[in-house]
Amino acid sequence: MRCILLMLLLLSVAGGAPRKRVLYVTATAGFRHSSIETSHDVLQEIAERNGRFDVVVTEETSLLTASSLRDFDAVFFFTSGELPLSDSQKSDLVAFVRSGKGFGGVHSATDTLYTWLEYGNLIGARFDGHPWVQKATVRIEDFLSPLVGELAPGFAIVEEFYQFRDYDRRRLHVLASLDPDSVDLGAPGVNRNDRDFALAWTQSYGDGRVFYCALGHFEETWRDPRYQKIIEHALSWLVKEDILIPYDFSTSGTRPSKLPGPPHPRHPR
Ligand SMILES: [Zn+2]
Repeated sequence: MRCILLMLLLLSVAGGAPRKRVLYVTATAGFRHSSIETSHDVLQEIAERNGRFDVVVTEETSLLTASSLRDFDAVFFFTSGELPLSDSQKSDLVAFVRSGKGFGGVHSATDTLYTWLEYGNLIGARFDGHPWVQKATVRIEDFLSPLVGELAPGFAIVEEFYQFRDYDRRRLHVLASLDPDSVDLGAPGVNRNDRDFALAWTQSYGDGRVFYCALGHFEETWRDPRYQKIIEHALSWLVKEDILIPYDFSTSGTRPSKLPGPPHPRHPR
């Protein structure tokens, strides 16, 4: 009893609530980005800076079981290809998210697990090539979102910009998209003619939360403070912690009075 009291005292001295836990999975069965190693460091730095969650990195998929996931509040993917997940691991991950936990991914997290149909629903869309590797403009669509609003109205960045299929913005909450005027829509590999190239979104999945951001190809992207902000806010949101924003939007003066609508569809030329 005395021992338990001592532990409780130590816990309260140490700051109370235990930190949330994110399982960061960077197993790859297809293309492996060199930025994955940088991302390991960056996520640890973000977790340290934030102080409300820890990030556990794994290069394997063996922790994706119901019993291991009990120790985590969110799973975050930077994977590729057909990961060796058993049927029970797949249903465990789905049950984990549906029960109210978080699932997120960046970049090639949409270029993975094509043979598992439900995964497409979980992450929200499927990779359909990257017609552009260049500097282009990321347009913030939800100026009021605590995940990305801080970066409104948008920013230019050098990236490998993805295009998606099995994508429908009516099913997702699109946070940011590629400004179609900042790229050549006639470039080889462009398959969409609706000018709708979402780059970040959230959605509900059962009682759980899902986040995806298409950026993350280059090491420089991971080192970019604007990208780190999006990732930090997303991880906080996924583990249901408050999002720490260093200033008050209402007085920043940078927020436009009119919120942007969805991009206007344009008929094929
Ligand atoms: Zn890439």
